[in-house]
This record gives sequence, C-alpha cells and structure tokens, in this order.
Amino acid sequence: MRINNLSKIYRGKYDTVKALNDMTLNFDEKGLVFIVGVSGSGKSTLMNMLSGIDKPSNGDVIVGGKSLYDQENGEMFGYRNSYVGLIFQDYNLIDDLDVYDNIKLPLELLGKTDFSKVDEVAKAIDIEDILHHKVNEISSGQMQRVAIARALVKDANIILADEPTGNLDSTNGDIVLNLLKEVSNEKLVVVITHDDYAAHKFGDRIIEIEDGKILSDSKPLAQDLDNTLPEFRQPIVTFKNQVRFTKSFIKRYLARSLTIFITLLLIPIIGAILAGYGFFDVAKTYQSHQKKYGGEYVVLATEKRGLNVYFDADLYTDTFNAYPGSKLIQVFNTSIVFKEVNETDEDYDSFYTNEIKHVSIYQNGFFKIDGMEPTSTDEIVITDYLEASLEHYLGYTPDRLNIYGHNYEIVGIADTNYEKFINADMSDDFTRMAFEDNMYIYNSIIMDEASYGDPTDSKSFVRRCTQYKEIFFCKNVNTGETMKDIEITVYTQSAKSVSVMSTSVRGYPTIGGKTAYFSTALIQTLGFGNNYRGAVSKNAPTMTFYDRSRCAANFQIGGVFESDKCEIILADSTFRTYAVDKVGYGRLVISTNDKNYNKIVNNENVINNSFVYANSINDRIKSTRIAIFEVLFAVLVILIAFGGFINSYTLSNEKRKIGIKYSLGLSRKKIVTPYILEYSLYILIGFVISFGIAKFGFPFILRLLNMADDFAYKEATFFYISVAVIVGWNLTIAIIMIASLLLMIATIMRKSPVEIIKDI
Ligand code: ADP
Ligand code: MG
Repeated sequence: MRINNLSKIYRGKYDTVKALNDMTLNFDEKGLVFIVGVSGSGKSTLMNMLSGIDKPSNGDVIVGGKSLYDQENGEMFGYRNSYVGLIFQDYNLIDDLDVYDNIKLPLELLGKTDFSKVDEVAKAIDIEDILHHKVNEISSGQMQRVAIARALVKDANIILADEPTGNLDSTNGDIVLNLLKEVSNEKLVVVITHDDYAAHKFGDRIIEIEDGKILSDSKPLAQDLDNTLPEFRQPIVTFKNQVRFTKSFIKRYLARSLTIFITLLLIPIIGAILAGYGFFDVAKTYQSHQKKYGGEYVVLATEKRGLNVYFDADLYTDTFNAYPGSKLIQVFNTSIVFKEVNETDEDYDSFYTNEIKHVSIYQNGFFKIDGMEPTSTDEIVITDYLEASLEHYLGYTPDRLNIYGHNYEIVGIADTNYEKFINADMSDDFTRMAFEDNMYIYNSIIMDEASYGDPTDSKSFVRRCTQYKEIFFCKNVNTGETMKDIEITVYTQSAKSVSVMSTSVRGYPTIGGKTAYFSTALIQTLGFGNNYRGAVSKNAPTMTFYDRSRCAANFQIGGVFESDKCEIILADSTFRTYAVDKVGYGRLVISTNDKNYNKIVNNENVINNSFVYANSINDRIKSTRIAIFEVLFAVLVILIAFGGFINSYTLSNEKRKIGIKYSLGLSRKKIVTPYILEYSLYILIGFVISFGIAKFGFPFILRLLNMADDFAYKEATFFYISVAVIVGWNLTIAIIMIASLLLMIATIMRKSPVEIIKDI
C-alpha cells in the first residue's frame, strides 16, 4: 500500500485547515505500524484516507497498483467490505444487532455461510460470554474488543485501527495490542496512538506526524512491495438480514414507528371520510331510494297541506317551465273514505291509508295494468295498493266503487310496486320520503282522460265536480224550496259557543282537521230525513254531497244542531280552504331519470315537502360536512406535518448507523432497503386495516356519532369512494414517503462515510 502526495484540506467557514500536507508513504504487506503524533496532527485524517471512508483533496492511495480514488464508487464498497478491517476509537458498532451479529455481519457481507470464525475470534479476544448481549449492555472495553473482533473476523488484508486503546484501561489495552501484534504476523496492521510507550513496545515501525507531515519514520520504505492486484469483493446483504435490520429499526424507535404507522393509517382514513362526505350526494341517495322502491317519478308539487297536494297555478306554471322534464298528472283529491279508521282499532294499519286521495288520468305507460285500461266513463282502474287497502279494511275487494253517487266499474288493477315498501324501514328518512311521494300514486283511481275531463259531458268526472258555481244546492226543510246556497258560518271562537248544538251529537266531524257542525236542515235536505240520528248511529256515518257539490266532500256526521237553514258551521276558514281552493289541481311529477332531478332536489326554491325535507337533510349534512371537513383537514395537515417531522427526525438519528454501514462497505441501495421495507410493511398493513375500517368501521362510527342518517353508509358509493380514496392515499403516501427517504439518503450519500458518521 502506498500513499502519494496525499493532502486533505478542510475548508471551514472561517479558516482552512491543512490536515494532511502532501504526504507520501509506503507500507509493507505485513507488520505492525504505529502512527503517533499530538492531537490534531492529522493521524485520523490519514487513517480515513487509508480506509477509504473519506476522500483526499489531493493525492492518492494505491493498493496493489490500484488507485482507490480513481475507482468507480462501487470499488470503494468492495475495498471497504473485503480488503480492510476498520477499528474506530468510538467503536462504531451497529446497536440494532447484538454482539454476535455485529461480528458476524462482515462475514455475511462477504457472502459466507460458515460463521464458526465468529466464535474463534470471540474466543481469542475473550468475549465469548457477551456474545449474545446487546451492544448497549456491555462496557466500553468490551465494545472495543467487539469492534476489533468485527475487523478481524473477515480476514482482511489490512487492519486499520484509530486509537483502539484510547478508551481502554492498560490491561485491556495490552490485550488488544497483543492481539494486533499477533495479527500483524500475517497482515499489515496500522495503529494510531498517542501512547509512545505502547508504540515502542509493540511496533515494527513508528511513523511520527506533525501538522499533516511526516516528522520521523523509524523504518522508511523506499517503495511499495505489494504488487499483487487485489480483489475487492462487493458486499452481499441477504433479504433476511434486511428484514432483521427493519425489525430492529422498528423496535428501536417503537414510539416513532407506531406514530408513523398510525399516521399512515389515519391519513387515508381521514382522506376517505373527507372524500366520502365530499362526494356524498343527497339527491342521488333520494333518487336511489325512489328507484329501489319502484317509484320512477317523484312529486314536484309546490305545496302540500296535510295529506293533500295543492297547486298554485302560477307556481305550478313557473315550476313546469323551470323543469321542462316534469309532466302533469291531473289528480283530484277525493278524500273518499272507505271506512272510518280509528287508530286504536285493532286492524288499523297505517301502511294502508284508507282513503282514495287521488284520481289520476290514465297515461299510457305510466302504469302497468292488470286487466283493462279504462275506456268508458264508467270504468276505472285502481292501484294494487288500493286493492290491498280495500281488502285490508273491507275484508274483500269490491268490483265497483261509488264515487259522488256514481258507480264505477273496476276494470283493472295498476301495478305500483308498492310491495317493496311493506318491509321497508320507515324510520329511514329517505325511505319514508320515497313512500310519501309514492302514496300519491298508490292512492290513485285512474280513469280515462275523456271520461274524466270533458266538462260538457254529463258523465264526466270533472263536470260532476265543477259544473256549478255554487257550492251546494239544498232544499229548505220547512218550505221545500231549493236553496241556492248553503250558508256556511265560520266562527273563530271555541266550539262551546255553538249553543244550538244537539245533545245527541256523537263526536265532532272534522274537515281538514277542523271541527264542523251540520244543521238538521242540511242533513234532511241531503236525504237523511228525520232519521239522521238513527242513520248516523247505525250504519251511515258518512254523509256524501252528491253531484251538486262543486267539489266532492265527504264528511263524517258528528255534530248536528237544530236549524231550518242548510248550513255548515266551521271553525276559521277551513271550509273555504277545503272547498274553494281546490280548483283544477293536479300533480306535477318528474322522473328520477330526468336531468333536472338533481337540480330540483337541491333547489331550495321548490317548496315541496319531500324536497324541503331532502333539502333539510342536505343542509344538515352540508353543515356537518363542513365542520367535519374543517376538523379532519386540520387533523390531516397536523398528521402529515407530524409524520414528516418525526420521520426526518428519526432518520437523522439514523445517520450515524447509515454511516457505519457505509463504512462497512454497504451500498446506498442496500442501506435504504430496510427503510423501504418498513414503509412497505406499514402501507400494506395500513391498507388492509383501512379497507376493513371503510367496510366495517365507518358504518359503525357514523351511526355512533350520528353524523349521518341511516342512508349514508348503506350507500355502496360511499364505500367504494372510501376504498378508492384509501388506495389512492396509500399510494400517494407511499410515493411521498419513499421519495423523501430516497432523497434524504441521496443527500447523505453524497458525503463520505466519515462525514456521515461525524455528521459534518
Ligand atoms: P488527530 O487524529 O491527529 O487528532 P485529525 O486528523 O483528527 O487529528 O485532525 C487534523 C486536523 O484537521 C485538526 O486540526 C482538526 O481540527 C482538523 N480536522 C479534522 N477533521 C476536520 C473536519 N471534518 N473539518 C475541519 N477540520 C477538521
Ligand atoms: Mg484522531
């Protein structure tokens, strides 16, 4: 080995130090060479050049005719791995590994599988009893012996030791030097010391240096005798060892490892929640419920009072124009009561609403009809739901229905798909909304447009309802005269103020939720005669206004008072509301497939109860969504920052170990592998866990926090979005983490091992 005109200049901020000044030296193939000199004379610098863990500013180190610094970097790994054994003053053991594994490592890096040499060397150095101790459990004397064992075990050509006895007592120091002396019988051993006595006692040659120059040399060599071309063997690191490095790395920084792992886990979960909420669409959910339960159409009514739907003509027109996809189904609210329903009745079943609420005009394709379509003025189709309702309350399905005194033959049953609601969960908001919307269809009687709508046809339904301007025609009980008007008395006081009320009144009739009272004159005029009380109490609880009523009304006779006037007394303006407002109303529906659908369901201007309700849910979600967004986003940012910080902090702690591995001959790729393995492990486990959380955890958490109604987690989209986001985030994080790791390693690796170890 030879060094040629070697110089090393350290350029600091304020000064420049010439640590080695144009030094030229030859070394024999074997023998124990001591380099002595005062502190700061350049001994360590020289050693770092010889060992190839630092680069000279000038000059060269020649080994067997090969220039170390002329080589590709790969050669340096091989040189450090196979040709030199290094012993440092501060040991530079790898504390992830125990004593045995530290000593064994160079053998593994050389690709050896026989490790008996470890025990051999351990025995020679007398460290057999600590072989399976952790590095940080042994004394500094023992550490140095381990470091020496590690240098000796690989049977290197040159042993380089920088102050190997510096931290040892004299007994241990002598043991070490004796050992090196023995080794130097076969190899070149270069030892730095400031212990002149030891140098003279053991040394074959003593070189004294001062200010980076040779002051004296006890046995200068004229030339380099070693001319055999050396073989530098590249280090080999098995996957098993990399896994071991990974494991001990995770264990060593357990808190940090857990934090990073949890961070990696939480980031995609939070990302998924953010995205899930971000993409969750109330309109779509509502729509899917409509579709699920068979309603292709949703009601686009502008106003709904109680169970009745009304249209304000202007609003209706506006809405129709705003949503051209909508279509009109004319529906008359008939409120025909098939049976008085008392909610306390045993057979009361709110699912089967017991009133026909609507008369729909048959439109081709709108209903699937079992039987015939209505073709004459006497024919109607009822829905399967109505059929079930009649069956439920009457015990049988009638062939005909008497509506406004006219008999209609039921010629067909329309298929509404209402069955889908039978076992549906009505506590679910959207399901109930879908049901309520569909109720308008379910409760329909369907008739032919011609028989329904021709006001000149005496058989027309519309004519029956609308041909008279007057509300009622009645006969005066006493005079027998036909009275043009029923007098409707509206009062705003309490019911008690009606002093004429009969004592025989049984309950109060209600219209639109308000109490109504009927005069005896009205009762008699309408055909109940004087027997109305009997009739009422027996089997005629319903009083029907026949075809002279402008609009059909169907009142339960509850309160009757003596009067010779045909009159109904109502509280407030109930009757007016009930009768007068019902002019020409229909229902505007829109298909759930319509392109306007989402616009409508999100449009707060559409004052339909269902949509108002949908909107209120939407608002609620929006507001929680915003809150959740803000909180989660903050958490996300904190986590990323925290994870990034803790990661770079740990990696900077790892620098020294990276430097040691580097000095042992490991390449960048091999040094990086355990860290990449670690992240891959986290990402893999993280993915599995976060997938599970998306599938099972989210529904549970959402329900627990009541952050979303039942519908939210039922939605497959929510899940798929979550999963997609988790995968995306995981990949993104993986790429970011690994890229940042590689970047950091690359930055470190631009330095020499000694710079990394000493963190310069
Ligand atoms: P010794 O090992 O003989 O005590 P060194 O080789 O460590 O001496 O140092 C030689 C000179 O180089 C000293 O003046 C020291 O301060 C300087 N030196 C060593 N390493 C560095 C460095 N990384 N940067 C700047 N100066 C350094
Ligand atoms: Mg030194």
